[in-house]
Amino acid sequence: MDITVDALIVGAGPAGSVTAALLADAGLQVLVVDRAAFPRDKPCAEYLSPAAVLILERLGVMGKLMDAGATTLSGMTVVGAYGSRLTGLFAKTGSPLPHRPAGLAVTRRVLDASLVDAARSRGVTVMERTRVVELVRHRGAVTGAVIATAGGRTATVAAPVTVGADGLNSVVARWFGPMRREPLRRWAFVGHFTGVTGLGDRAELHAGTAGYAGLNPVGPGIANVSLVVPRQVASRARGDVTDFFHDTLDRFEGIRNRVHASGSLGPILTVGPFGVRARRPVVDGGLLVGDAAEFFDPFTGDGIHSALRGAELASAAILGAARGPMPLSATSLSGYLRARRRAFWGKWMVERMIGYGMLLPRLFDRAVERIGRNDPMAHTLIGVTGHVVPPGAVLNPVYLTRMVL
Ligand SMILES: Cc1cc2nc3c(=O)[nH]c(=O)nc-3n(C[C@H](O)[C@H](O)[C@H](O)COP(=O)(O)OP(=O)(O)OC[C@H]3O[C@@H](n4cnc5c(N)ncnc54)[C@H](O)[C@@H]3O)c2cc1C
Repeated sequence: MDITVDALIVGAGPAGSVTAALLADAGLQVLVVDRAAFPRDKPCAEYLSPAAVLILERLGVMGKLMDAGATTLSGMTVVGAYGSRLTGLFAKTGSPLPHRPAGLAVTRRVLDASLVDAARSRGVTVMERTRVVELVRHRGAVTGAVIATAGGRTATVAAPVTVGADGLNSVVARWFGPMRREPLRRWAFVGHFTGVTGLGDRAELHAGTAGYAGLNPVGPGIANVSLVVPRQVASRARGDVTDFFHDTLDRFEGIRNRVHASGSLGPILTVGPFGVRARRPVVDGGLLVGDAAEFFDPFTGDGIHSALRGAELASAAILGAARGPMPLSATSLSGYLRARRRAFWGKWMVERMIGYGMLLPRLFDRAVERIGRNDPMAHTLIGVTGHVVPPGAVLNPVYLTRMVL
């Protein structure tokens, strides 16, 4: 079977669904394939920044998310490995940028299925349980892909542009070109629990001497509990993931005795390693969006925003290039690279500063203590990680000096 569309999108997570929805809004015929069936679980701390909320409002899905039990977040509390603590509130960032003073906690089952529905309601064709087998090329340019359904049927899809939105460990990204790996290699373990004590309307991040853990109130009486550790520590999970998860969580002073195995609502999901970036996010006939393009570390809880914002930038670039010859050339799509750099350079810097800073727990704890003493500094930091305050508010000599001295 042969299919011809204006755009083929591999992956129906936030990056793929939203790119598809925005292209369909502009009148393009779009096919999305995903190997999973929705709703599906995805290992994630399920925290959305106020900037992500703004994009979800633009997409018209917020009402549905709130009806499905999403929780409004007033901010975030960060706890250092030696007990220091800071709390940043979105409403107090004093940001001149347009933003909502609240973040959101919502399960990926609900969020991702809602975004797939939003794409479908705009006329996008979504094929679930369907994976991409290989890219099709003509004279070096990507001109589509071979896809396979769970039932074993295959089809060749021809498209002027193929978007790789297939997440961390993207096969499309690897087919586009080599990947750059960060030296920092972490793994994550994530579960949902009832009966977690002491949760308010803020997400919590607890740094430890090896890794970090998060608590997030994702629904009435339900908490997302996530644990991120270096590869050497993660390898101990091979015996029994559940025991490893609870034993390791108990090492975090601020979490001990708050999460009980008896409150588990399902299996502990595992994912890793992180820290990968595509060297070629744009090629002739294709581009990458979301985690497929770059994923460093979930500490700042910014991946979903990057996927959503990346989708906006990718769809704008594709629509701009669609006026030229087919398949879309890398040159005609190169504005996407510049737009990504402008949108994300601050996030890339702050993520790396925090990610590598956590390798020095004493220094990290001291920085949390210094910032925690000064409420405006705390609100600014959480505002920067939530994309409602420009990164320059933290990435400047005055802030950085006050953070450690
Ligand atoms: C432990 C952890 C915690 C996180 N916590 C947060 C957080 O709190 N807040 C936040 O904003 N971000 C968080 N992130 C990051 C966030 O999960 C990602 O950035 C986000 O999911 C990226 O969306 P995406 O659409 O690019 O990829 P994904 O959501 O991963 O979607 C990719 C889709 O592609 C499909 N796919 C994969 N391969 C194929 C194939 N060969 N053929 C067809 N389909 C395929 C998959 O089934 C999947 O549905 C976290 C990440 C991790 C690992």
